[in-house]
Amino acid sequence: MDDKGRHTFVCGHPIAHSRSPLIHNYWLSRYAIPGTYRTIDIEPTKFTQFMSDLPVSDFVGGNVTIPHKEAAYALAARSDDMCHLIGAANTLWIKDNLLHATNTDAQGFTANLDQQAPGWDKATSALILGAGGASRAVIFALQSRGFSSIMVANRTLQKAVELTHRFGPRVTAHTLDAVVELSRDVGLIINTTPLGMSQTPSFSIDFSNAKSGTLVTDIVYVPLRTPMLASAAQAGLRCVDGLGMLLHQAAPGFHKWFGIYPEVTPELRNAIVEDLVKFQ
Ligand code: NAP
Repeated sequence: MDDKGRHTFVCGHPIAHSRSPLIHNYWLSRYAIPGTYRTIDIEPTKFTQFMSDLPVSDFVGGNVTIPHKEAAYALAARSDDMCHLIGAANTLWIKDNLLHATNTDAQGFTANLDQQAPGWDKATSALILGAGGASRAVIFALQSRGFSSIMVANRTLQKAVELTHRFGPRVTAHTLDAVVELSRDVGLIINTTPLGMSQTPSFSIDFSNAKSGTLVTDIVYVPLRTPMLASAAQAGLRCVDGLGMLLHQAAPGFHKWFGIYPEVTPELRNAIVEDLVKFQ
């Protein structure tokens, strides 16, 4: 450690859009910890070299984002069970000169709902849109909270079917055509696809058949109020945005690198919301 403290990063390609530096630099300042957290743009062809250089670099660890999450999992010397389950890593740290990896998305997902919609896990059935890496994290989170029926609807049915093999009989696979029908009977609906993200097409879902207590959450957080959340709110359903998941998935990494488990406060959330306003 030099006199500037510990050094950390988020790497991706592109990376300029990442809100992670705002989050980690807020915590470094709040807890008066000497250290840095910076963005590094790494092209896919250079990622393997970047990973192999990390144990002998000045960094104590960092975050990995699109498109390197799967490669980070494959290249880390030690990946934990959460990485194996999800098939991707978002958090790295160096211990005993070895690169370790985990995935904190499931923790971020549950912590967000615990904070924004306490009691959300009283529901027993859920509908997940999407069957990618984030969907796996959400399935794990729901299973760990005792959900007995988890329906996964995906554009490519086969990918949803693969998740039923991986996660067992409480998970069922469906096509996106079935979403309106499936939404009638569930207590929780989660979008884990990029649809609705700023400058991408959005989902058009008719929520008029959903039960009045159904909670709808979108892990896309740019914009904060996605088209899906807007139509759910219009149908009178409770909604939770995806920003809290981003904030909470960041906390375990900060803890590993700097030794303090940071708090996700309204002040931090407001700082990021102000930054996101330009995308609304
Ligand atoms: P991924 O592994 O690439 O999976 C994407 C999923 O979305 C797949 O199921 C894919 O369906 C579906 N999809 C993509 N484009 C589609 C389209 N045009 N129409 C219908 N379905 C489509 O991605 P991921 O890592 O799971 O991430 C998904 C989203 O979650 C990203 O926007 C990411 O930024 C966000 N995210 C947010 C947080 C947070 O902290 N809030 C954390 C993690 C991820 P197919 O199988 O048919 O391709």
